[in-house]
Amino acid sequence: MRETKFIFITGGVLSSLGKGMAAASLGALLKARGLSVTIQKLDPYINVDPGTMNPTQHGEVFVTDDGAETDLDLGHYERYLGTPMSQKNNYTSGSIYYSVISKERRGDYLGGTVQVIPHITDEIKLVITSLTGAGTDVAIIEIGGTVGDIESQPFLEAIRQLRGDLGKDRCLFIHLTLVPYLAAAGEHKTKPTQHSVKELRSIGIHPDIILCRCETPVSQDLKRKIALFCDVDEDAVFSSVDVDNVYKLPLEFYEEGLDQKVAIMLRLPARNADLGDWQKLVYELMHPQGNVTIGIVGKYVQLKEAYKSLHEALVHGGIANHVNITLKYINSEEVTPETAVDILSGLDGILVPGGFGERGVEGKILTVKHAREQKVPFFGICLGLQCAVIEFARNVAGIADANSEEFDPTGEHKVIYLMTEWFDHHKKCRVTRNQDSDKGGTMRLGAYPCALKEGTMAFAAYGKKMINERHRHRFEVNNAYREVLGKGGMVFSGLSPDGDLVEIIELPGHPWFLGCQFHPEFKSRPMQPHPLFRDFIAAAKEQSQKHPAAPPSSVGCGQAASTPKESTRQAKPRR
Ligand code: GLN
Repeated sequence: MRETKFIFITGGVLSSLGKGMAAASLGALLKARGLSVTIQKLDPYINVDPGTMNPTQHGEVFVTDDGAETDLDLGHYERYLGTPMSQKNNYTSGSIYYSVISKERRGDYLGGTVQVIPHITDEIKLVITSLTGAGTDVAIIEIGGTVGDIESQPFLEAIRQLRGDLGKDRCLFIHLTLVPYLAAAGEHKTKPTQHSVKELRSIGIHPDIILCRCETPVSQDLKRKIALFCDVDEDAVFSSVDVDNVYKLPLEFYEEGLDQKVAIMLRLPARNADLGDWQKLVYELMHPQGNVTIGIVGKYVQLKEAYKSLHEALVHGGIANHVNITLKYINSEEVTPETAVDILSGLDGILVPGGFGERGVEGKILTVKHAREQKVPFFGICLGLQCAVIEFARNVAGIADANSEEFDPTGEHKVIYLMTEWFDHHKKCRVTRNQDSDKGGTMRLGAYPCALKEGTMAFAAYGKKMINERHRHRFEVNNAYREVLGKGGMVFSGLSPDGDLVEIIELPGHPWFLGCQFHPEFKSRPMQPHPLFRDFIAAAKEQSQKHPAAPPSSVGCGQAASTPKESTRQAKPRR
């Protein structure tokens, strides 16, 4: 059996340097060399998982097939590797401590004093080495946070020990650091990198490769200087240059020769990376044949990371339709009966995403009304579907006070309600839940099967009867209202196989109006755009041709706030 090799990625100087993107891009390159790759994120914070964190602080909570609520970096890993992640791909300090404390209570350490070293570090080593087997050639481990943070110390100590346990041939340390450009001095500065590496070495980790995040490529002279001061090979210092489109990063790393150096150092098979798909993707992104403007009407709009997968899935829909996507993030609290038309006109498609809590909901319901009446392509995701059902119940089915139990627990007409008993597909049994349950882990989470009705928009998109999509919600469509909603013209085009749970609703006679209880954005990939996003953008593209006026500002295909640069560049030879 092949031995799994480990690449540990740490970060220095400051956060948000793009360790996740670097890990995902390196993973994509190694995969393109024919290797089987997985990536794990170790987060130093104390929450057991990010499920209870506010998305405006931490960004999106990414959900895996097995129902884990994870860091948004796992979304990057899935999109770049094209393989599903699981609970095993994300641990936090909280989850590590939780496990050690549970073992202590069970008596596993009877007689011993439980300590950070060796108990916490052993637990960390256990979750890292659990990635071996199943034919995995390379496991990339991204350590969250920045070297020097108090919380990350046990993780760094654990990976230091692993290098001793597994040997140099199986472990590689990559340190991502910042090399700022000082315009006044007219040069790149290496001091932050030197300090960061010094910090890392003081805890016993000697980086093998230094990846320099920089605005423009770091010169050979400067690489020589960094190599000298940080005691690494001169050809082990790489630039990680700012890119105008994130999907360019694997190609940039390839041109720098990063995968080649990694392969040599870890003694991986010498094979060239086949990047045909990536080149095609970047070419498509850089040569759109039109523009489509989509409004995302939600409440976490101040932090774009809160809708990361959604943003990417829309871009993928754009790729499938050869169009550039202009995304307008609209705060639903600002949508009122007075402002709705002003704010929402000019959009080629409207998307109401998932969300929790009452704030901004009435604005979302008004948004649905606008999309339904004005026949603007509409896509409602999770809470978006629930708003569509409430709006339809109120304004078409004549139930004026229709609402969700989440926002009006004592209301008479809860068209969306808390299902207290249902079939848990993962536990393979009926489960119960109630309003007072623990806030962590009481949701319908992970992949659930859904049966599609033939002759519907949903069926046309997927082209098959049975699908599997990922969920993250507590509330469901109330079956008691299915009949009256159906009479009004709403079609329930996707149901759980036992027929109990509404998974997809749609409105025939509208250019494209669909809501789903699940989160399709988690399964969209740049190379395989999700069918619902593909068809939503196709409908929006048609809509855009009805009013050929130029959009206010063009946002790059794949980037929220940059203009797409023309690029005819094909894969350059390695530098
Ligand atoms: N708040 C709603 C629920 O819990 C929707 C959740 C979501 O959009 N992810 O059911």
